[in-house]
Amino acid sequence: MATIDDIKSKIDIVDLVSEAGVKLRHAGRNYTGFCPFHDNKHTPAFVVWPESGTWRCFGQCNEGGDIFKFVMKRDGLDFKDALQKLADRAGVKIESLQREAPQVKEAHERLRLLLEDVLIYYRTHLFNNKEVLTYLREKRKINDTTIETFGLGYAPHGYDNLLKHFVPKGYTQQELIDVGLLTVREDDAQQIKRTNDKFRNRIMIPIRDETGKMAGFGARIVDPNDIPKFLNSPETPIFTKGHILYGLDRARKPIRMADQAVIVEGYLDVIALHQAGYENVVSPMGTALTEDQLRLLKKSTRRIVLALDPDTAGQKAVLHGLDAARSAMDREGELGFDARGLLRNEARLQADLRVASMPDDLDPDEIVARDKDEWKRLIENAKPIVTHVMDSLAAGQNLNDAKVKNQIAAQVLPLIEDLPNAMERDTYRQALARMLRVDESVLAGTQAQGPVVRHRPRAVDRSQRVVTPLVALNPTLRIESYCIGVLFRKPALLYRLDRKLQESGLSALAVEDFEYTDHQLIFGVIRLAVEQDEKDHHQYVMSHLPESINDVSLDLLAQTEQLDPVDDKLLEELLARFIDLRRANAMLNMNQLRFLQEDEQQQGGANLKTYQEQAMQFMRLLHSLDQAKRKLTLRRQE
Ligand SMILES: [Zn+2]
Repeated sequence: MATIDDIKSKIDIVDLVSEAGVKLRHAGRNYTGFCPFHDNKHTPAFVVWPESGTWRCFGQCNEGGDIFKFVMKRDGLDFKDALQKLADRAGVKIESLQREAPQVKEAHERLRLLLEDVLIYYRTHLFNNKEVLTYLREKRKINDTTIETFGLGYAPHGYDNLLKHFVPKGYTQQELIDVGLLTVREDDAQQIKRTNDKFRNRIMIPIRDETGKMAGFGARIVDPNDIPKFLNSPETPIFTKGHILYGLDRARKPIRMADQAVIVEGYLDVIALHQAGYENVVSPMGTALTEDQLRLLKKSTRRIVLALDPDTAGQKAVLHGLDAARSAMDREGELGFDARGLLRNEARLQADLRVASMPDDLDPDEIVARDKDEWKRLIENAKPIVTHVMDSLAAGQNLNDAKVKNQIAAQVLPLIEDLPNAMERDTYRQALARMLRVDESVLAGTQAQGPVVRHRPRAVDRSQRVVTPLVALNPTLRIESYCIGVLFRKPALLYRLDRKLQESGLSALAVEDFEYTDHQLIFGVIRLAVEQDEKDHHQYVMSHLPESINDVSLDLLAQTEQLDPVDDKLLEELLARFIDLRRANAMLNMNQLRFLQEDEQQQGGANLKTYQEQAMQFMRLLHSLDQAKRKLTLRRQE
């Protein structure tokens, strides 16, 4: 999820507005209060819709927006500063903002270039090293095509290879340090840095981000006595472990095609599986899977299978010490492979998480080496995460023992309660009752006695609140996001859309058609793009977007990768969606105005006239929208 969407999801607009001193009164599904932006303390004209996270003043201001707009207006900030302010409040880090200044971008490009050069250097050393090549080919069963495809290499023995090779090529020692390839030994009085090559006598695996840009290296030992067995580049300006999934640059399309992503724990597992034809496989950078990584996947699929090595800490955490794993997770924002954490994310990301257990203490690469089809079966038989935990806890236990039953129930029930879907909860409760051979009603009593992890009180820390993405809850946001995404990808459609709207007696598309500030900003740039003719429209949009909305735009691009190639169809679709959006918006406002008018009549009626005028406008709008919609439907049926 883009940072901005993350912030939207984590901040409750009712809280935000209340804290700004607006007393809100519950009115149906909405809240009303006195508008903080204009001077009328007589009747409440300010309405907040918690579901869409938006607000509107029906009085003098006659405008509205989302949380960003509210803060911008209240504090007189621009979008970027409002974003920063709300990010702080939500406990969300905005890294893209700090990283995207043009000079910084250029420096990052140079670091990536350096990494590409180093990759070639390591590859040359690999093909000159018979022993390591033989190990890869024969022991790991990796063929030469795969070695090339994944850019494997070898870092030779020695401490100053990189300095000797790359400084004469025009790179600086500092750049080699910045990119994590040299470690600084000492920094003496003359300020001459003494450095060592970080990677020596190791198999080098280039790590790229999801768009294929070089980010760092993973390294595996050749000499079995070396430690540690695996070593990654340190965190650098272009390498954030929690934000990258190894192999995703190659796996993105296969994941989308299979509508499934498989997560394994080792880079060489990823490579072996891709070689065997299973290309929807990725791996996190260490053992812990972060929420950001799950979000990266979510752009392509919501069906995720965890293929866990049988002997890892992660697997153990699923079985034991759920409490400890969970509190550690809360602190670090990482999931590990803790079942409860994953469940919570399943709910938040609306993903389908399953666990495939590897048999016979084998790693994934050993399994495909043994029998290629076995992998397919294992993944097909992956169990939903709750079932996996249930079965694992029950394995080898005497299920006739009342104490054992009680223990298992106490551990599994809280997981079941975390499930978002009531039907699923029922199904699992029944399954648990069946497994333990007890009556379901008995289970209800067990939970309170067991060593259950209590949910934190919600008020303690906002950033820890369990939130469902606004997008998932709110259809308007989803449609809006789709529409702006299509226009973002194909700005040229905007002209044609405007014409279609006008042919239907409707006004051209305007900033007001979007409720959310980020969408409004993007729309503004798209509008400018189609009004100039010096640059290609899309290029213009890309180069004129405010940096603060970079991550939203990436999300939008990802969402709209599979558009209907026929522009005419897209256009019809867009037209229909915008009519729906306008219609939903008009209805919402009409209803609200009705309530406000009733209130107003009781209070004396200073605003009555403006409300009636607004209501008339919305009525007329609804009428033309309905006509346009009818015409569109008729045309579609022809
Ligand atoms: Zn107002």
